[in-house]
Amino acid sequence: MRKIFTLLALLAASQLYAQKQKTLTSGGPLKPEQAIMDIRHYTIALNVDPAQKSIDGYTTVDMIMSKPTKVILLDLLDSFKVSKILVNSKPQVFDYKNNMLTINMDKELPAGKASVQVFYGGKPHVARRPPWDDGFIWKTDSLGHPIVEITAEAAGGKLYFPCKDSPSDEPNEGVDLIITVPKDLVVAGPGLMINKTTKDDKATFHWKTNYTINNYSIVFDVADYAVVTRTYTSVLGRKVPMVFYVWKYHENKAAYHLQLLEKFAHEQEKYLGEYPWAKEKIGIVETTHLGMEHEMMNAYGAKFKYTKVGGEDYDDLMHHEFSHEWWGNKVTAKDWADYWIHEGIGTYADALYIKEVAGEQAYIDHFKRTRFGNKIPVVLGKDLDEEAAYNQDIYGKGSFFMHTLRYVFGDDSLFFRTLKGFVTSPKYTYDNMVTTADVQQYFSEKSGKDLKPLFDMYIYSVNLLNVRVKKQGDDTYLVQLQNMSMPLPMEITTDGVTKRLIVDTKGITVTSKTPPVVDANNYYLKNAIVTD
Ligand SMILES: [Zn+2]
Repeated sequence: MRKIFTLLALLAASQLYAQKQKTLTSGGPLKPEQAIMDIRHYTIALNVDPAQKSIDGYTTVDMIMSKPTKVILLDLLDSFKVSKILVNSKPQVFDYKNNMLTINMDKELPAGKASVQVFYGGKPHVARRPPWDDGFIWKTDSLGHPIVEITAEAAGGKLYFPCKDSPSDEPNEGVDLIITVPKDLVVAGPGLMINKTTKDDKATFHWKTNYTINNYSIVFDVADYAVVTRTYTSVLGRKVPMVFYVWKYHENKAAYHLQLLEKFAHEQEKYLGEYPWAKEKIGIVETTHLGMEHEMMNAYGAKFKYTKVGGEDYDDLMHHEFSHEWWGNKVTAKDWADYWIHEGIGTYADALYIKEVAGEQAYIDHFKRTRFGNKIPVVLGKDLDEEAAYNQDIYGKGSFFMHTLRYVFGDDSLFFRTLKGFVTSPKYTYDNMVTTADVQQYFSEKSGKDLKPLFDMYIYSVNLLNVRVKKQGDDTYLVQLQNMSMPLPMEITTDGVTKRLIVDTKGITVTSKTPPVVDANNYYLKNAIVTD
């Protein structure tokens, strides 16, 4: 999430951004005690009581410490009572305050593997306007069944389980979620459902993923779902189960919705390579909130309202959240500051659907219509927490930047190979997190051009490209870049004829009876300055 950038959504979105809660945020500079910690695995085993709006149970955090330590720090919101903490099965004393568990070891813990088990319970923080703020959502469906949902993008998993609250560290060996609910309810989660067991009036669902997973994707949803399935065949020929956890009274809409998702998946694979979690599943769950890119169980609350792209039904929310399986979930920024990689390139992947289904002109028109604030840079610093990093332009301007880069590459085959190359490279995916510098370096190397001046302009500043058109003689004009050190290709239209020419700060002279038009198709964010 947090919002898809369509024109229609723009106004509503900006109102919602303004209301975003500012108190709960994740990430920021790593504490030294957590910098020596590599999270390997989480096991979260909780009993969920919808009547009491409470949870209780334990979380086991498996980690590798790079140095000996006497203190282990884990983030956990101050909503709970922690009864006991075991480190490598031995009880330890701890402090629990300021949303942090500080475990004071009775003797120094050596470097290497450690397993921390925290027993806790209580009433988790409740979201007020999810997904724009985070927390648990406790609701009841129209037939009286409880619904429990979680959104955690800004606040992180510490909302309900002890963890290292940083986007830079995902559990390399995945997560086990063992969730117990009243037995008439169903739990949806990431990865594979290992089993369901029932005892008395309770049912326990064991979900497991072996993949790395974002801290904020480690969530579950509970409701009286129907489960509708379909089989997807990936671009590499792998059979992948598609599952839709849908409210029973929408079950009749689910099969068609999965057909749309299948189409989206084929189109995304064409540009981005095989679906990243093909060994487990493609999952979607109906939610009371609008949506969130939860890995392998995307939250969907857009109520099956389709628009048209190329004359065919389209669900922009589902497409956007699904794009995040590549941009955000598979490729993950290690610092929230570089969040545009998730939202901007993810939003560009949405635009590629328009290109694919409605054609090149529709894609160009889409970017001509794109609007954004451009008041502050896309990347606002380093080691930022989620709230400090967040701004609207990470979506629309980030996406437009990819549109510009495609034009600058000037060779679609090379550009799309580069896009796919990045998102399929082991160096930049799964447990290898990325930065904006990685994107800049990779795209520069593949294009054969140093793209730093463009990254500086689009990502780190609010400057527009100034293109000056100056009349020289009766029929000649000088076209010149004013604030860009690298020469750029540009469409220049003279007397109705458009050519792609290379323009630089020295300028080029063109012949035209009328003032030439620069970049009529809007490949750049620019000011065209016409002077006599
Ligand atoms: Zn998004």
